[in-house]
Amino acid sequence: MKQRTMHRDGAPIVIGAGAAGLSAALRLAEYGPVTVLCAADLGQQAASAWAQGGVAAAVGADDAPELHAQDTLAAGDGLCAPEATRRITAAGPSAVDRLAEIGARFDRAADGSFKLGLEAAHSRRRIVHAQGDGTGREVLRALVEAAVRTRNIILLERIDARRLLLDANGAVAGVLAADRDGTALTLRSGRVVIATGGLGGLYAHTTNPSGALGLGLAMAARAGAVLADMEFVQFHPTALDVGLDPMPLVSEAVRGEGAILVNDLGERFMAGHGRAELEPRDVVARAVWAELTAGRKVFLDAREALGERFAVAFPSITAACLAAGVDPALQPIPIRPAAHYHMGGIGVDAHGRSTVAGLWACGEAASTGLHGANRLASNSLLEAAVCGEAVARDVACFTASAGTPRTQRLPPRPEPGVVRAILDAHAGVLRDATGLQAALAALRPLAFGEGPQADPALAALFIVIGALARLESRGGHFRTDYPAHVAVARSSRLALTDLLAEPVAVAA
Ligand SMILES: Cc1cc2nc3c(=O)[nH]c(=O)nc-3n(C[C@H](O)[C@H](O)[C@H](O)COP(=O)(O)OP(=O)(O)OC[C@H]3O[C@@H](n4cnc5c(N)ncnc54)[C@H](O)[C@@H]3O)c2cc1C
Repeated sequence: MKQRTMHRDGAPIVIGAGAAGLSAALRLAEYGPVTVLCAADLGQQAASAWAQGGVAAAVGADDAPELHAQDTLAAGDGLCAPEATRRITAAGPSAVDRLAEIGARFDRAADGSFKLGLEAAHSRRRIVHAQGDGTGREVLRALVEAAVRTRNIILLERIDARRLLLDANGAVAGVLAADRDGTALTLRSGRVVIATGGLGGLYAHTTNPSGALGLGLAMAARAGAVLADMEFVQFHPTALDVGLDPMPLVSEAVRGEGAILVNDLGERFMAGHGRAELEPRDVVARAVWAELTAGRKVFLDAREALGERFAVAFPSITAACLAAGVDPALQPIPIRPAAHYHMGGIGVDAHGRSTVAGLWACGEAASTGLHGANRLASNSLLEAAVCGEAVARDVACFTASAGTPRTQRLPPRPEPGVVRAILDAHAGVLRDATGLQAALAALRPLAFGEGPQADPALAALFIVIGALARLESRGGHFRTDYPAHVAVARSSRLALTDLLAEPVAVAA
């Protein structure tokens, strides 16, 4: 796609072109020009396009936003912010309508109502989907096409943001980026939105795009922003384990249809757990992990539950399996847990404002309080759409008074390198003080160095320090040395300066 014109000084800048960034840009474009920076080609390398299940919204006749909020609060394991949860779930139905208006073709019944899927821990059918398991692809297609035809949106593809530029007062004054040849570009603006997505790519085993390295979080932290609940990473229990990187996802919906988990001894190891394979993601991930660490292999067996119906119900998953030589109708699918979603991120208020003047965040890069310690399935596309728009409305009304940006040297192109092995080994499904201390010692010099691993290592260091300080197990964070909940759940908040000090317990 062709680059369209250049950034106008002072126009707001959105970093990232997934569901969150494009939702924000489309709304901002109603007020004037807006520049969108996208590290990859448009539509590529965005987790949004990979979403299978759908968008959660209380649109069914038997549903209500309050029921959706209750389910979200329960999944979040005591750590969701109730106000944010109610605000975002209440906006779900209109966000879905807006995506449909923009052009997303959701699956509908003959009477025009949405066909609604059911996912684990939702008490109602409320998953709006498209093309079966192709929801993200369809939503992002619609958003990209709308952005391309919007004259006020200046799309700069294959331009990656590397640093936020600040003025003498510490307010955001621009972005330092690199073009596709590695040449530095300075874009001036007192209004910047970070929508760079998640950080699963910091792990060696992940379902996320390889560019999901938490770079927006590292940039925000280096500019002084507070990051929240960084230790909470959701590990999906069933990533297709055939040696691919990233790992294709085998959606929870397959277990919803009755597929079972078995080890290579043929044992159905989830049988003894309450809801068996439909226990929450973190419970299933730990059970699969226990099998793997005992030296066994794990499979998702859909032969009896779905058989030939598998290909019809899950066309994208079928294609991924067949490409790897596994026919899910006839063979058990090899799986293992993989880093999938990051509940933490840049701490923001109800308008998406960070703690740095002139800096907002939305989508997976932000921590709004919706997900708590454990995201409820399909709540992230919802959050991206709702909060992208909310941020845009606030940015549009904000009068930036940024001064001259202080110059900075362009850092090298980020590469995660050894960070991936360090996080996999020490900050994965199970954590303990010894492993986390080892990760801390390995990551700190990288994060505060000047090499290509500096920004990935910084984002990883926030996870590790958050995990070290949380002396309990909750949601996606499990400490083998502190396996219980503490009585009162508390959010964690960390800034760059905290990484230099010894971790302080947030719960004891
Ligand atoms: C396999 C998979 C399945 C999923 N299924 C679902 C689902 O069914 N329902 C659901 O709700 N959620 C699902 N999720 C989660 C959901 O897709 C994401 O949380 C959500 O799409 C994040 O949207 P985003 O816009 O914040 O980030 P992304 O869509 O990841 O977009 C980030 C954008 O930022 C750009 N970027 C990153 N760094 C830079 C930089 N330095 N400079 C410039 N640009 C940059 C990227 O190129 C990209 O354009 C799934 C995730 C995965 C990986």
